[in-house]
Amino acid sequence: MKSHAKVVVIGGGVVGCSVLFHLARHGWTDVVLLERDELTSGSTWHAAGGMHTINGDPNVAKLQKYTINLYKEIEELSGQATGVHLTGGVLLAATEARLDWLRGVVAKGRYLGIDLEEISPKEAAELMPLLDPKQFVGAVRNKEDGHLDPSGVTHAYAKAARKLGAEVERFTKVEDIVRRPDGLWRVITNKGEVVAEHVVNAGGLWAREVGRMVGLELPVLAMEHMYLITEDMPEVAAWNARTGEEIMHAVDFDGELYLRQERGGMLMGTYEKANKPWSEFQTPWNFGHELLEPDIDRIAPSLEVGFRHFPAFQNTGIKQIINGPFTFAPDGNPLVGPVRGLPGFWVACGVMAGFSQGGGVGLALSNWMIEGDPGADIWAMDVARYGDWAGMAYTNAKVRENYSRRFSIRFPNEELPAGRPLKTTPVYDLLSARGAQWGVAYGLEVPLWYAPAGVRDEFSWRRSSDFSHVAKEVAAVRDGVGLSEISSFAKYKVTGEGAAAWLDRMLACRLPKSGRMTLAPMLKEDGKLIGDFTLANLGPEGWFLAGSGIAEQYHMRWFEAHLPGDGSVHIEALGAKLSGLAIAGPKAREVLAKVSRADVSNAAFPFMAVARMDIGMAPCLVGRVSYTGDLGYEIWVAPEYQRAAYQALMAAGEEFGIGLFGSRALNALRLEKNYGSWGREYRPIYGPLEAGLDRFVAYGKDADFIGKTAALAERREGGKLRLRAFIVDAVDADVIGDEPIWFGGAVRGWVTSGGYAHHSKKSVAVGYVPKEIAEESDGFEIELLGRRHAARIQAAPLFDANFERMRG
Ligand SMILES: Cc1cc2nc3c(=O)[nH]c(=O)nc-3n(C[C@H](O)[C@H](O)[C@H](O)COP(=O)(O)OP(=O)(O)OC[C@H]3O[C@@H](n4cnc5c(N)ncnc54)[C@H](O)[C@@H]3O)c2cc1C
Repeated sequence: MKSHAKVVVIGGGVVGCSVLFHLARHGWTDVVLLERDELTSGSTWHAAGGMHTINGDPNVAKLQKYTINLYKEIEELSGQATGVHLTGGVLLAATEARLDWLRGVVAKGRYLGIDLEEISPKEAAELMPLLDPKQFVGAVRNKEDGHLDPSGVTHAYAKAARKLGAEVERFTKVEDIVRRPDGLWRVITNKGEVVAEHVVNAGGLWAREVGRMVGLELPVLAMEHMYLITEDMPEVAAWNARTGEEIMHAVDFDGELYLRQERGGMLMGTYEKANKPWSEFQTPWNFGHELLEPDIDRIAPSLEVGFRHFPAFQNTGIKQIINGPFTFAPDGNPLVGPVRGLPGFWVACGVMAGFSQGGGVGLALSNWMIEGDPGADIWAMDVARYGDWAGMAYTNAKVRENYSRRFSIRFPNEELPAGRPLKTTPVYDLLSARGAQWGVAYGLEVPLWYAPAGVRDEFSWRRSSDFSHVAKEVAAVRDGVGLSEISSFAKYKVTGEGAAAWLDRMLACRLPKSGRMTLAPMLKEDGKLIGDFTLANLGPEGWFLAGSGIAEQYHMRWFEAHLPGDGSVHIEALGAKLSGLAIAGPKAREVLAKVSRADVSNAAFPFMAVARMDIGMAPCLVGRVSYTGDLGYEIWVAPEYQRAAYQALMAAGEEFGIGLFGSRALNALRLEKNYGSWGREYRPIYGPLEAGLDRFVAYGKDADFIGKTAALAERREGGKLRLRAFIVDAVDADVIGDEPIWFGGAVRGWVTSGGYAHHSKKSVAVGYVPKEIAEESDGFEIELLGRRHAARIQAAPLFDANFERMRG
């Protein structure tokens, strides 16, 4: 075994081998994979080998498509058969709600280049002869479904990597990982030590244990998973003989089942409700090629449905039940990327669909390691979407919930209950008493809307029980004054003698003067967005940044990776150390004036001013800015004072009829101002010009900010896309995000978010289209629940287009 390597990949399952292959293909050949046993000694060997392109996240779906297309290449490169059978498949709906969901999947497929087609149950039965069409209301055909040989694929990756110069060391167990003072990693094995610049944790079933070697508690948990294989079935033989083809795949969402042909019989797997975690605290090192004890009682309810939906199963025997463990992150998507605070330590784990996702994970990670960027929008699988709050007990609750809901519909207004409440702010019970309906962001409870007694969310794809109540919250803001909790923002404090110069380099905006704020886009080297913040200059106190709450870990990883090594800049994520409240609406200033001794007149405290002031008795930092697009204030307050500030504001607002508003009303309000947000409109694949943030980029400032050259090029060349707001002729449902935008009879763009703008009484969608059609006002259509609705570009904001309210 070599003693030095550029990269050590730990784990020879499908994921580790894919990472190794991609690193070598990308030109890093001084790379070695260490496997404690034979390759495929974790979950990989007993997988059912199914592969498919669809995923709830369109960006993950793209990487799944990449993975499936890769198999031919690695087979050719390695000479190792992968056993790929591209049978195609049917996705089945037994309820109308499921069919609505499937129509959304078909629609997304249009701009992802995934060939999906809605078909009738009868047509589905003609393609997949074992299903009973009477049990279903609709189906979708997917030509890119199939299955493969898990071991063949893993070995093909490994052989192809070796041919490119990578090394594989089997029976080499990593026992410890130690960071040297010079930043290199000592990877200590039972056969000696390798010193490496980079370490990749692709430990699969043992990813947690490998993480612990560097003091990391990764949010992954293994679950038991069962599938059965039947005896040979005459129906299968007859179909094979008649058509010369295999029986195609089927996913029966309402039965929570997946099926495919296995030799002369069928394989049927299920994600059962009564699921069972495996090795909750510590994966045994001596586990390898054994299977777990099957428990037919646990899967019996699913099988019962399966036997009804696929009657031929009633006449056949079960040859074998496989039960094996594999790992999940709390939301079921992989954990990929560099780990904050551990330079050179990377993860590629929690991959629950290794044969659909392994290639994409390897591609993204190798790009990231070599180019410094994953090369795609992989937020949905970025390890930084979780923070320390996602501990073992939380992960356990969430993974169990996710497993049990693997095939369940999640409606756009549906909040999932497991692992909650975890983080709450001091006003939680006060808001609950006023009917707050809670959602969650980065582990923190956030009020979505306020329900009168007896009213709750009715889960639906369409406008629902909250509609008229959210309309009232919006009206409270636009007609008088509203108060909302905004603690879920990420807040950062930047101090030190080098702070100003550092921020000038990190952020693309011009730095504001003392007592002022500005909107601050942050770019990567390639000129694409990596953040958008409000930056406040607090004078001698330092600098304050507020940004997307879900991206706190993501942004801290970026900030810390760019800190100067001389200690001249200090950045702290304030998290729960700072709570937030906001007031907005034409009466907001009068409310603030009543509770503060500061002069908050427009002249003394204009738009984008920031100052410390007491609200009642509570010391606060107040900024005159509002995401509602109205006159408004964001108020930052230490948690021990948040109740006092809240009570002072509510009491002062009483005479103006102050109302509480939640994030759904806030969404309705911001849509009227064409305001975007991180994670929706602003993502790391869009440039500031494309995203309409160019007006906040100080292209001419002296500082050589990160991404300046690329941003200038974007401005010169015009980029490819434009973000636009559309008014949609919607009837009873509004866009959620990821719907296709049609123009001239073809899908030309996609929706990033939207909803109903209650004040303007318009259904609004926001999304990207090619710049060539971005100046057309008419002729667009947006596909919603299987139907295309006419849409028009709304260039000027629907509300306060002249900024009189906001700045007045
Ligand atoms: C019953 C079942 C059915 C499944 N069906 C499908 C399916 O149809 N389609 C699909 O896509 N996925 C399926 N999966 C999931 C799939 O198996 C996993 O997504 C995939 O195997 C994950 O691969 P991995 O490389 O991340 O992890 P693993 O396969 O667990 O590999 C990790 C490797 O790391 C090695 N290792 C760990 N720690 C160390 C160390 N300290 N030193 C050296 N080596 C170490 C282990 O020995 C192991 O070989 C199924 C899983 C099960 C259990």
